[in-house]
Amino acid sequence: MTDTRSTCPYCGVGCGVIIEASDGQVTGVRGDPDHPANFGRLCSKGSTLHLTATAEVRRFDRLLQPTWREARNQAPQPIEWSDAMERLADRFAATIREHGPDAVAFYVSGQLLTEDYYLFNKLAKGLIGTNNIDTNSRLCMSSAVAGYKQSLGADAPPTCYDDVNHTDCLFIAGANTAWAHPVLFRRIEDARRARPQMKLIVVDPRRTETAQCADLHLQIQPGTDVALFHGMLHALIWDELLDRDFIAAHTSGFAALKALVADMPPREAARVCGISVEELLQAARWFAESPATLSMWCQGLNQSTSGTAKNTALINLHLATGQIGRKGAGPFSLTGQPNAMGGREVGGMANLLSAHRDLGNAEHRAEVARLWGIESVPEKRGKTAVEMFEAVERGEIKLLWIACTNPAQSMPDQAMVRRAFARCELVVLQEAFANTATAPFADVVLPASTWAEKEGTVTNSERCISRVRAAVPPPGGARSDADIVTHFARRLQRRLRPGAADLFAYDSVEAVWNEHRESTRGRDLDITGLDYATLESRGPQQWPVPIGSESRGGVDGNVIGTARLYEDHVFATADGRARFVATPYRPTAEVRDARHPFALNTGRLRDQWHGMSRSGTVPRLFGHDGAPGVRMNPHDLPRRGLAAGELVELSSRRGRIVLPLVADDGVGRGEAYVAMHWGDEFVSGAGVDGVRHAGVNGLTTRAFCPDSFQPELKHAAVRVAAAELPWRLTAAAWLPAGAAAEARTVLRESMASFGYASCVPVAAADGRSGLVFEAASSAPISAEAIDRVATLMGATGAATLRYADAVRGQRRLLAIEGEGDDARIGALVLAGRAPLADWLRTLWQEQQPAAPFGRSLLAPGATAPVGMAAQSRQICNCFDVSEARIRESLATHAGTPGDRVAAVQAELRCGTQCGSCLPELRRLETEVAAAATVAA
Ligand code: SF4
Repeated sequence: MTDTRSTCPYCGVGCGVIIEASDGQVTGVRGDPDHPANFGRLCSKGSTLHLTATAEVRRFDRLLQPTWREARNQAPQPIEWSDAMERLADRFAATIREHGPDAVAFYVSGQLLTEDYYLFNKLAKGLIGTNNIDTNSRLCMSSAVAGYKQSLGADAPPTCYDDVNHTDCLFIAGANTAWAHPVLFRRIEDARRARPQMKLIVVDPRRTETAQCADLHLQIQPGTDVALFHGMLHALIWDELLDRDFIAAHTSGFAALKALVADMPPREAARVCGISVEELLQAARWFAESPATLSMWCQGLNQSTSGTAKNTALINLHLATGQIGRKGAGPFSLTGQPNAMGGREVGGMANLLSAHRDLGNAEHRAEVARLWGIESVPEKRGKTAVEMFEAVERGEIKLLWIACTNPAQSMPDQAMVRRAFARCELVVLQEAFANTATAPFADVVLPASTWAEKEGTVTNSERCISRVRAAVPPPGGARSDADIVTHFARRLQRRLRPGAADLFAYDSVEAVWNEHRESTRGRDLDITGLDYATLESRGPQQWPVPIGSESRGGVDGNVIGTARLYEDHVFATADGRARFVATPYRPTAEVRDARHPFALNTGRLRDQWHGMSRSGTVPRLFGHDGAPGVRMNPHDLPRRGLAAGELVELSSRRGRIVLPLVADDGVGRGEAYVAMHWGDEFVSGAGVDGVRHAGVNGLTTRAFCPDSFQPELKHAAVRVAAAELPWRLTAAAWLPAGAAAEARTVLRESMASFGYASCVPVAAADGRSGLVFEAASSAPISAEAIDRVATLMGATGAATLRYADAVRGQRRLLAIEGEGDDARIGALVLAGRAPLADWLRTLWQEQQPAAPFGRSLLAPGATAPVGMAAQSRQICNCFDVSEARIRESLATHAGTPGDRVAAVQAELRCGTQCGSCLPELRRLETEVAAAATVAA
C-alpha cells in the first residue's frame, strides 16, 4: 500500500488529497491534513474520488485505445499511437499550409494541469501561429479575469481563504458556496461559529442552501446584480458612508461613477431587482460599516452578458468603502474548476498571453517570442469559445482539437454546436472517459490519463499552487495530456519548421513548469522563487513567490508565498491606482415575453460535477439528487395548468427538452431552474415533435459579455408546457459491472426513440450498483421495445413474475432474487399508461423483502399498499441517511437547534464525515421545529 499526496480534480477550492493505492490500483482517498485549502477535509465528491478509479470504472468507463473514424458513417477503428500522431501531424500541417494557421483550433479545459495548458498554448501560439486556443474556463471565469484587469490592473484575486476568519461581513453574490465549494463553506461555518457577530449576506435569485444560512438574502430578479450594486453605492454616497481618504489616495474615476449611479437611486434599484428598499439599504450599510467586508462570487456574476460589469460594479463597492487590501476585506472570485487559475497564468486563452501579458501589447508579444525562441507570436485575438464553434460552423475553422472537456454537453446553444461538429472536417477528442456527449462527434479519439495517473501542478481560487502526483499508471493505452501534446507538437514542427530548434524538447513536466516559471519573472504573478523541490518540501504556495521569498518564512516556517495582495494599496495599474469602472446596468440578453414567460437559470447539484463524465461513474453520487428535473415555484404551477411530478416541455428560441416537474418554493416566481449537469448522456428524447433533445444546454443562449466573451448560461427565456407523453416505461436492475455498462450504452443510444428518456446509475445500501431507465412516449411503447429493455435488465429468467393486460396496455416484469422471506426484486420493468406502480421501484431500490406484498406485486393499479412508506431522498451521502430518518430523529430530540442537530448527528452519524449535508440538516431542523410549533 502506498500513499501519494495530490489534489482533488473537481472544484477550485483545490483540496489536498492522499491517494491510497496498491498493486497499481487506487484503493482509497482521504483528505490531506497538511494542505492549506482543506486541512484534511473533503466534500462528498472529493471523498468518493477513489470510486472513480476502480477496476470496473477503468475497464468500462475509460478510453483505452486511440481510434480513427475514416468517415462519419463508419465505425471508429483502433489505431496505433504513432500512426495516429503521424496522420494528425500530416493533416494539421496540410491544412495550415493550405488555409493558414487560423484554420485550426484547440478547445481545452480548466481540468488540465498548468503544464498541459502551457504546452497547448505554446503549440497554438508559438508553433502554429494562431491564437485559436480557448478553454471551458471561458464559460466559468473570464468575466472575473476581465473585471480584475479593468478594476485592479491584473487578473489576481487579492484575498485568500483565511480571510473568512477575519471578515465581519461576508457578501456572497451569485454563488451557492454550500454546494459548489463545500469545503470552503465548512470554513465559513467554522468562522461564523467563532465570530457570531459576522454577517452573511447572500445575493441570489434562488433560495439556495447558502441563502438559507444568510442573515440577509437578497432574492433579486435574474441578471439585475449591476442595478443592485449601483443602488447600494448610490445609498453609500447619500449616507456619507464612503472612505473618502482611500478614494482620494488610491483610486481614479470616482466622479464618472458617481454621475452614473446618480441615475440608480435605491428605490429604483430595488424595483429593478424585485427586493425591498430596506433590504438594499441594510446590505449597503453592513457592507460599508463592517470593519472588514469580504465578497465572494462565482457563476451568478460571471455567466452573463453583463459579466464584466457585474464584477467591476462589486469591486467598485470595495474601493468606495476601502474594503480591500486588509485581512478579511476584499473581492474574492471563486474559480469553478480546479485549474482555471493555472490556465489564466499561462495565458491559455484566445485573448491572453503567457504570465498575464496582453496580446495587444507589442512588447509583451516580443517577450514571449524571445522566451520561446521564435520570431513572433500572432497579434490578432483568437476565437473565444462561442466564436470558435461559430467559426467551425461557418467552415472557417476546419480542424478542431478538444482536450479534457465535453462541449457537446457544456456549451450553450447545442443546436449550433452540433451543426459545427457536422461541418468540421476533423474533430479530435483527447479525453479520459468514454461516455461523454462529445465522443460520438469525434473522428479521432486519443485516450488520456486523468486524476491519480498524471504529474504536474494546479492553482486554486486563492492563487495557491499545489502538486498533482501520479499514484498509479494509466489504464490500457492511455497517455498523459502533456505526453500527447508534446509528441504531436514535435511531429508537427518537423513538418512546419524543419531544421529549427526543437520547441518541445522537454524531458519532464517539471521542465515545462520551469519554463512557465521563467515567463513570470518580473510579472505580478512572479514565481521565480519557487520550484518543484520547494513545493515538495514546504507544500503548496500562493503566488507571487519571487526570488528571495525563501527568507520570508511564515508562521510555521513553510509559507513563502503571498496570502494577500495590495496591502500597500498600490494596484497593478500604470499609475498604481485602482480604477472605478462606470458601466450602466443592462438587462439580460433575452427578456421574458408572452411566448417565453419564464427565466431559466442553471446551476450545480451538491454531489455532481460539470458534465458528470467523472462523477457520473459513481452511483453513490446520484443518491442525493439522481433524477433530472426542472424546478419551479409552486405558485406558478396551477395558473399554467401544471402539476408537480408530470412531464413538461421547456422550449427556448433554440431548442427543447422534456423533464419531470418539481415544485420548489426556493425558486422565484416566473423562474425555472435546471441543474447544469444534465446532458444527453443522461437525459434525452425527442419530445412531442421528434427533434432530438440535447440536454439543458439545448435551451441556453450563446449571447456573451462583450468584454469577457463569457456566455450567458445563467439566463434564457423559456416556455413551460405539459408534455403529452402518457405512455411510460420504467426499468431498474442490479447488474454485474459488465452487464450494467453494456445495458447503459445500449439504453442511452435508444433514448432518442422516446419522447423523453433518462438513464442514471443508482447505488444500493449494500454497495451494489444499479441502473434506472425511464422513458415516456405519446403512443403505446411497443412490445419489442419493452422486451429489449427487459433483456438488457435481466428481467427475463424463470424467476421473473409477469403480468400483462393487453386491453389497458400494461405490462409488469419482476425478476425475483432469493426465496421465501429473503426474496427481493432484482430487476423490474413497468410499462403502460401513466401512472405506473412506482412503489415497486422503491421496493427494488431499498431491497425490501418482496414476500409481504404477495399478490399486490402483480395486481393492477398504481398505488402503494397501505402502510408502505414512500421512498425518501438521501441527505447524507457518506452514511446513506435519508430525509425521513433525519426528520424522525429530530422529532425525538429537544433543546436548542444546535443541540438537536448534534443529537441527530450522534444518532445517525449524518454530517459527521464530509459535512456536505450540514446545511440541509440545519434546514430540516428548522422545518421540523416550525412544524412542531404550529402543531402545538
Ligand atoms: Fe474537491 Fe470538494 Fe474540495 Fe472541491 S471542495 S476541491 S470538490 S473535495
